[in-house]
Amino acid sequence: MFIDSHCHLDRLDLTAHGGDIGVALEAARTRRVRQFLAIAVTLDDVPALAEMSRQHDDVVISAGVHPLHTVPREPEASAIAECAERYQAVAIGETGLDYHYDAIPREQQFDRFKQHLIAATECQLPIIVHTRDARDDTLALMREYSDPAVGGVLHCFTEDLDMAREAVSMGFYISLSGIVTFRNATSIRELARRLPLDRLLIETDSPYLAPVPYRGIPNEPQWVVEVAECIAAERGISVDEVAMQTTANFYHLFRAAAPQAPSDVYDSLANAGLV
Ligand SMILES: [Zn+2]
Ligand SMILES: [Zn+2]
Repeated sequence: MFIDSHCHLDRLDLTAHGGDIGVALEAARTRRVRQFLAIAVTLDDVPALAEMSRQHDDVVISAGVHPLHTVPREPEASAIAECAERYQAVAIGETGLDYHYDAIPREQQFDRFKQHLIAATECQLPIIVHTRDARDDTLALMREYSDPAVGGVLHCFTEDLDMAREAVSMGFYISLSGIVTFRNATSIRELARRLPLDRLLIETDSPYLAPVPYRGIPNEPQWVVEVAECIAAERGISVDEVAMQTTANFYHLFRAAAPQAPSDVYDSLANAGLV
């Protein structure tokens, strides 16, 4: 079984699925993708994501504001925490720092990330961090404001091994996306080989970043399998081992999602001593 730990289910291109999110999810289930973490880009999207989660047992959600998303007013930590609790989010985010683009000034991103970290500690929910070209500030804020007992994930990770290791030492997980399959992504494949398997998550970040051989078309949750296959090939282990361990990692990190885990999935993880 696989889990797509980061997908924007409210932004998928459903043309290939008759406009029906249920059909897109079913295509993924057929490939043994058994749980989906639907990621919010802004707090206004959370009610619709919560409704999607009500309709589909295997969808869980997050609550937060993306570092590059424009909002009329910056939410305080208390508003982020309140939204997460009201809509039963299992994580805070995605949020973080993206200094590659300047759509939102750095100081504003910095304060926004800080408010999310405070909210995550307040709700005792893990934080989903988007980080690009912002290594020092990202790590400094995590060090100061994250709760190591709760932790979080650096999603769609494209920075270097040192940064990943430092995050892992703070109780964070590293999530790899379809980028790992890109021909020129040799440094990401090195991460796939060298990071401890019990600290890795897999994701699509769909509708963005479709893996090889689907590059150039809108990404879908079912292609998280290609991410797992690439990691397995790099490490010289079976896809099943990657699937089992990353699934167990998901429930270790997103503890609030564990009660919603499909019972056969949870049983097989328990039988393997992974949860
Ligand atoms: Zn992101
Ligand atoms: Zn995302």
